[in-house]
This record gives sequence, C-alpha cells and structure tokens, in this order.
Amino acid sequence: MKAKLIDKTALAGVVGGLAAKMPVYAPVRDGRRVYFRFLAAEDEACLDYGNSDNAPKNLFFPHTETLMRFTRTARGHELVEDEAANQDQEMVLFGVRPCDVRSFTLLDYVFDQEKYTDPYYVERRKRTVIVALACLQPPASTCFCTSVGGHPAQADGADIMITEVGEQYLVEFLSEKGEKLAEFFGQLPEADAKTLARKEELVENAVAAIKTEIPGAMIKDWLDKNFEHPFWDQIHQSCLGCGTCTYLCPTCHCFDIRDELEGDQGIRLRTWDTCMYALYTQETSGHNPRPSQKQRWRQRLMHKFKYFVDNFREISCVGCGRCVINCPVNIDIRKLVSDIGRLMEAEEESNG
Ligand code: SF4
Ligand code: SF4
Repeated sequence: MKAKLIDKTALAGVVGGLAAKMPVYAPVRDGRRVYFRFLAAEDEACLDYGNSDNAPKNLFFPHTETLMRFTRTARGHELVEDEAANQDQEMVLFGVRPCDVRSFTLLDYVFDQEKYTDPYYVERRKRTVIVALACLQPPASTCFCTSVGGHPAQADGADIMITEVGEQYLVEFLSEKGEKLAEFFGQLPEADAKTLARKEELVENAVAAIKTEIPGAMIKDWLDKNFEHPFWDQIHQSCLGCGTCTYLCPTCHCFDIRDELEGDQGIRLRTWDTCMYALYTQETSGHNPRPSQKQRWRQRLMHKFKYFVDNFREISCVGCGRCVINCPVNIDIRKLVSDIGRLMEAEEESNG
C-alpha cells in the first residue's frame, strides 16, 4: 500500500482534474446542508463537513430509475434499446465518510449475491472508485459507528483513504482501482513514519470522541425470542409513518417497481419504498400482513438487528445517526436498542 502526502490546498485541484475527466459524485455545501451530488462545473467538493445530509447510496441505488423501456405492439410488448442505460464510464465517489463506505459493503450482500444479482446496482458499483475521508472529529453525539461494527477511519470497501494530518492530507491507495487514480494526484512525497504515527494517534482520539455506546451486537438473542413482547406495543406510538428515517438511511434498500404507459410507449420504473409505509405490504386483496405502525416499527428494528444478521452475519446499521437527527417526532433507534439492552439485564437479574 502506498501512503503519500498532499497539501490541503492542492486537493481541490485534484478533485477538479478528476471532474474534468469523469463524473465525480461528492459532498457539496448548500446553505447549512451538505448533499452528495454529481459535481457541476461551478461546484466545489466540500471536505470540511461532519456527515452529509443525504446518504450517498443514491449513486448506486438511485431514488428513481428506469429499468427498461418498451413499446406496446399488436404482437405484445417489445423492448426498446436504451442507450443511456449502457454506460461504462468510470465514476468517482469522493469524500465519503467511513460509515457510508461500510453501508456499500452491506448493500452488496443484498444486491450482489451469487444466486441473485441486481445488474443495475452491480454495474454502477463496479465502475466506481471510492475515495473515503476519515472521520477524525465525529460530528455529533448521534454518531455510534463503533457500536455496530464500524470505526471512524475504517478503510474496508474504500479504494483510497484520505486522512487530514495537520496542514496536509495523508492519501493511502488501497486497491488497484485506487492506484489507477494516482496520476491525478501528481508526484507526491511518501509519508514518513512520524506522519503515519500521528495519523494513528488522531484515529485513536476520534474513537475516544465517540461517546454514544449502544448494545448493537448484543440484542439479537433477545430479538430471536421476543417477537410478541409488550415492548413492541410502545415504541411506535408517536411514529408518523413518514419514511424519513428509511429514506435517509444508507443501508435501507426497499424498493417498488411499476410500469408507466403513455400511449404505446412504456417505462418500467424502480423507486425507493419503505417498510414504514402502510401500503408497502398491502396486498391486492386488501389484506395487510403489517396492519399497524407497531408491526412496521418491529420490522424495521428486527430487520436491522436480527434478520440481516441471520442472513448476512452483520447488523444493517452503520451508526450514522441520520434517522436520529431527522425523525420529526424524535424516535431514537439508539434509545430503542439501549432499552432492549436494559430489558435483557433486568430479565437476567430476575432469572438469578
Ligand atoms: S438506522 Fe439510522 S443510524 Fe443506522 S445506518 Fe440507518 S440512518 Fe444511520
Ligand atoms: S422518521 Fe420518525 S416519524 Fe418518520 S417513519 Fe421514521 S420513526 Fe416514524
């Protein structure tokens, strides 16, 4: 692995050079908010942000996408070749925080399986180089990556890792895909042992700065046994079913597919959907297997901390805190998981 040093002021030029050659999806400041989007000529990538207001999953799994186009004919439906869909241009996802990088590893379990592969997601994922930005000053008390298997400088899944060390950035090229972008960084000096040691120190400080701890990995056993527990009767009471938590979540991945026709021309659309909506599970007969918000909230928590672990051995939450910050009625997944932890302790005590 190569570790180089670049002056802070020079990095903006690197991003500009990349954006001149290929699409670059990066955080951009918009008033008080920071959103990931494709950099336009007038945009500047924002690298001094806490975490973005939207999750970058939109790049691989767009909010709305056309899966196919077709024409209705007397012989039936005929597919129309969609040139826009056949892109093979390399892309760069720049300046992603490690929690969001980790979300792609989790989404891969769903969309890139041996038996079932989502070609739309996989194709975009394969042609994208991920440049991560270590999180040395975890932005909020709502961050809890270390409680769900993450780390503020975790490099797994990144092709390049950038870490701010004083007036410079340490640039680590971690994969072949990352190495291919080295030419855009120009001739850089190798990082010396002192800088690498300083980086480790800064990372340790970042870990220590994450004060929120929840028993993320501990509650599965309780969830396995308590599908009908009275705990589920309370947690949803104030939930509006707005779906904000799931739409902002980097690991949520529910979607709906529908056909839209205009005359004889049709498109098949995929759009995000959410288990927090009543209609999500409603069947054509009118029957709904999750008729109330209680069942829907139980599903959300169970999916993240039990079913995903059953299927893929990992928790489907990276501790980014977006759902905590943005829920209009302050429902807090950290509190719910901690409440289950306390229930477990109380049950253990009463069982002697
Ligand atoms: S559940 Fe909440 S904290 Fe966890 S990854 Fe999703 S939005 Fe972030
Ligand atoms: S953001 Fe809050 S109110 Fe909206 S669906 Fe999620 S938990 Fe319910």
